[in-house]
Amino acid sequence: MGKRLMVIGCGGVAGVAIHKCCQNSEVFEELILASRTKSKCDRLAEELTKVSKTKIITRQVDADDASQVEALIKETRPDAVLNLALPYQDLTIMDACLATGTDYIDTANYEPEDITDPAWKKRYEERCEKLGFSAYFDYSWQWDYEERFREAGLTALLGTGFDPGVTSVFAAYAKKHYFDRIDTIDILDCNGGDHGYPFATNFNPEINLREVSAPGSYMEDGKWIEVPAMSIHREYDFAGVGKKDMYLLHHEEIEALGRNMPEVKRIRFFMTFGQSYLTHMKCLENVGMLGTEAIDYEGHKIVPIQFLKALLPDPASLGPRTVGKTNIGCIFTGEKDGKQRSIYIYNVCDHQECYKEVGSQAISYTTGVPAMIGAMLVTQGIWKKPGVFTTDEFDPDPYMEALNKWGLPWQVEEDPTLVP
Ligand code: NDP
Repeated sequence: MGKRLMVIGCGGVAGVAIHKCCQNSEVFEELILASRTKSKCDRLAEELTKVSKTKIITRQVDADDASQVEALIKETRPDAVLNLALPYQDLTIMDACLATGTDYIDTANYEPEDITDPAWKKRYEERCEKLGFSAYFDYSWQWDYEERFREAGLTALLGTGFDPGVTSVFAAYAKKHYFDRIDTIDILDCNGGDHGYPFATNFNPEINLREVSAPGSYMEDGKWIEVPAMSIHREYDFAGVGKKDMYLLHHEEIEALGRNMPEVKRIRFFMTFGQSYLTHMKCLENVGMLGTEAIDYEGHKIVPIQFLKALLPDPASLGPRTVGKTNIGCIFTGEKDGKQRSIYIYNVCDHQECYKEVGSQAISYTTGVPAMIGAMLVTQGIWKKPGVFTTDEFDPDPYMEALNKWGLPWQVEEDPTLVP
């Protein structure tokens, strides 16, 4: 039976997910597109209703206000809500889903917009002290909803983008089919794309710059080890892309995999960056433009990183200009049938192919496709159980099959070059 999905947010990632839902109109019979700026939803609805059987309605919503989301869910009665707004709205949307008995899906874990909020800060400082990593985002806020979702018989699927999302499905798949025991996981995110601008970010600049300018961290023997930003550097030769410099970052799937696969001895995450990107970022940081707290400028309150976002190219505008490929995946080492084994499971995605298909570059594409797949599996009851889960906590096989079908085919390389 066809499903009705509400998508909140209408930016780069949502644009791809909505295209993909419309290609999959047998499952997604109806979409409710709701965002802060309704005109973006209207434009997409006009374009897609010409080429898809999926019925689309559009609404304005401020998802910072749970009661607005709740009222909209009551009015339109979706089978699930796919949150593709910002991590700032995760909790309000989860509240609205609980209040209305609706399943919840997102691609990024909760992070507060206002990091000066005393209640948040107190808990944040306790967590930094207790766990040993200082990123502004962590799963604890959403894992706190576990009991309420379980008791209500609802599913919350957290982080179904590429990383997190597909990378954790790769981990579950490796565990199920390739290893008796996984010892290490290295998640590699390589973007070999070139957009021709001196400096731009591939997804929301505020969220992206917050993430990459923060200290790096990884997990070893169940404990977090934090290091200064960009202080661990490696070079890797990526299939389809070539040699790239990559740097160790903190990333949210390390936390979930560390909890759900405690037998893994070390989990790290690396992302590639060119020298020009790093030099621009360091300079912006040095002059205070990455600041997340409001300053007073001639009587106006301005948050530097939000002002910077207004100056930078809109990630959605990079599609036509970006050429090259991404290669994202996980290297696993461990044991099978008493023998040491290592594999790299990865996807290569071409920026221009994505643009031709859905009008967007590969970063939004590699996130939007898994968002559609997560929503499809939850609404079809294939990934449905009461509680709050990340993507490594379900059977990976239907998800892996869907990746091949919906535009993100993956490969398994035996004996890959390992990262020192
Ligand atoms: P964009 O900034 O392009 O889009 C965000 C959208 O959310 C915009 O349409 C924006 O509205 C809307 N929005 C913001 N605040 C509100 C609000 N209060 N109420 C309703 N709508 C709101 O971001 P991206 O598409 O790049 O990213 C979307 C999400 O995907 C983020 O959470 C990001 O962290 C995540 N992501 C996950 C990845 C993964 O691999 N797991 C990778 C990349 C991104 P408006 O148009 O008015 O600005």
